[in-house]
Amino acid sequence: MAIKSLSDSSSHAPQRKEANLLSASPAIEETESIEESIRPTTLDDYIGQQDLKNSLKITIQAAIARKEALDHLLLYGPPGLGKTTMSLILAAEMGVNCKITAAPALERPRDIMGLLINLKLGDILFIDEIHRLNRVTEELLYPAMEDYRLDLTTGKGKTAKIQSIALPRFTLIGATTKIGALTSPLRDRFGLIQRLRFYEPEELTLIILRTAKILNTIIDETGAKEIARRSRGTPRIANRLLKRVRDYVQVKQENCITQHLAAEALEQLNVDQKGLDWTDRLVLNTIIKQFKGGPVGLEAVAAATGEDARTIEDVYEPYLLQIGYLNRTPRGRVATEDAYQHLGIAKSTSQLPLF
Ligand code: ADP
Repeated sequence: MAIKSLSDSSSHAPQRKEANLLSASPAIEETESIEESIRPTTLDDYIGQQDLKNSLKITIQAAIARKEALDHLLLYGPPGLGKTTMSLILAAEMGVNCKITAAPALERPRDIMGLLINLKLGDILFIDEIHRLNRVTEELLYPAMEDYRLDLTTGKGKTAKIQSIALPRFTLIGATTKIGALTSPLRDRFGLIQRLRFYEPEELTLIILRTAKILNTIIDETGAKEIARRSRGTPRIANRLLKRVRDYVQVKQENCITQHLAAEALEQLNVDQKGLDWTDRLVLNTIIKQFKGGPVGLEAVAAATGEDARTIEDVYEPYLLQIGYLNRTPRGRVATEDAYQHLGIAKSTSQLPLF
């Protein structure tokens, strides 16, 4: 069993901006070795996402029995929920290689050709942010996915010829945070489309306890629960907060992460009881105070907060929607009653200056 990652693709989104504490994007300081040591490697280690695991278990068993590659699989959901991890686990379960890349790294046709040509029978090709593929690359993928064939065009105009190269049967796993941005021809070529959902606090508690063990960090269950509660339903954030709390506890010369110490550390890091950070609160405050609670368009919120619209949409909004602090309506974003309550703002005072 060999699992390979393309080192030059550095696994995740080369174009993402530097992650902050609560960003679900991988942070610069998360060196590959730490990241890899805490990444679950078997389906049993992979906590939560029971529906996904159940359906993938059946797919794996069927593919192994038929001695075939897994069907092409599309995984969607917010960042940090375990899409890459699941792909690596599937490769391990199938005993095949997993090559990891991301759409922004596949700029030229030869980038995807190089990857496809080097695949071996049954291999998994994982493409992160697959909704960002350019048209030429995407069109090269159609025959590759459907007929395991790479169509190369040589020459131009009337002398142009198409040469087809047979590819081994392989599995494409696409990951996306925006399923709606995929073209339908691409989406239709996936045999299996699965959504990853935010994790429950109990699941995140188990993930934190497991990571703490790997990092040789002493934590009690109340400490793990406190971190879980503030992790926005996201394992990557849970692991990151655990590492920050561990630093805090070490500097305080304490030896066990308790609920009290975890809460103290996270308050100091500006992560509130719901896991909202400064930017979440700024977004909500802006909608409430500057736009009377909404509805307001994304671009207007971005301009008023000075945040990038895509970052608000991909990083901040999914969780605010999930916990019911924000609603998306055809006329724009609306802050809910719960958001007012969380920020301690009475509806009548919502037109006061921002700070
Ligand atoms: P995505 O590809 O969705 O952005 P990753 O697969 O890179 O997310 O997961 C981020 C990190 O979170 C992983 O390194 C892993 O340590 C942790 N993680 C994700 N899902 C799980 C899970 N189900 N159980 C335990 N840890 C997880």
